[in-house]
Amino acid sequence: MKIDLHSHTYYSDGALSPKELIDRAHNMQLDVLAITDHDTTAALPEALAYQETQKRPLRIIPGIEFSTRWHGFDIHILGLNVDHHNEVFQQRIARQGERRDLRARQMAEKLARCGIEEVYDEARTLAGPGQLTRSHFARVLVKRKMVKDFEQAFKRYLGKGKRAFVTPAWPEIHEAIEWINQAGGEAVLAHPARYDMTSKWLKRLLNDFTQAGGQGMEVSHPQLAADTRKLLGSYAKDYGLRASAGSDFHFPGRWTELGKNLSLADDLVPIWQHWNLA
Ligand code: AMP
Ligand code: MN
Ligand code: MN
Ligand code: MN
Repeated sequence: MKIDLHSHTYYSDGALSPKELIDRAHNMQLDVLAITDHDTTAALPEALAYQETQKRPLRIIPGIEFSTRWHGFDIHILGLNVDHHNEVFQQRIARQGERRDLRARQMAEKLARCGIEEVYDEARTLAGPGQLTRSHFARVLVKRKMVKDFEQAFKRYLGKGKRAFVTPAWPEIHEAIEWINQAGGEAVLAHPARYDMTSKWLKRLLNDFTQAGGQGMEVSHPQLAADTRKLLGSYAKDYGLRASAGSDFHFPGRWTELGKNLSLADDLVPIWQHWNLA
């Protein structure tokens, strides 16, 4: 079975519409795709309605990727199989949107002090009805030729500690885990190898994540070296976490594709084990 449990649409910083994402997943012969936009479930009604009309052998898992903060690190937590109709859940999401908006205004002020004016409105327009992310800011900076590419936008302005960086007021990891669990979903620690942490800190994070009721961790994501994949797998076992796999797909690119290179080792318990995937 081909399963990808981490992807984005243009309702956050992905490039594709929900329909385009689903068509692509179908073309890539996926059996299961989770849509996990940053701090929003706005893609889901459209995605599920479209899928309903298609009668394709592709199951869509309703998901989200929450931004949280833990000891100064930006930690991302996926919610899989969340009930996106849950009212309290949507209130939490609305609050995340407010945090994003406030941070965006503060980033725009910092950019203005660097002589780069009125980025907020342009980024807001790019984001449309979706969540406003640093990627939208990066796109504005590239478009105005203030930087040569995305990487440089983060390196010079938007990355941690850089000129336009604003410390986000994200919730604690245990809050996001509770929100997900209360909405009937399972909490999965996203891309643990991408936090630039020593293994001592990562173990501390896994300990806190597990204590707070988290269910799984990604052990397979693209561009992960074989030994790192193995190490993450052994951590999953040590902490009793189920294993997840996701491409973190944002847009079609040379290095990123849905469902690519996401196999799990046989000795791991997959997060989807009890999902009744036919
Ligand atoms: P935000 O959630 O608004 O802080 O935006 C973070 C998003 O920006 C991530 O989900 C990535 O898609 C993107 N991002 C973060 N760092 C980089 C980077 N160095 N280069 C390119 N994109 C990045
Ligand atoms: Mn992103
Ligand atoms: Mn992420
Ligand atoms: Mn992601």
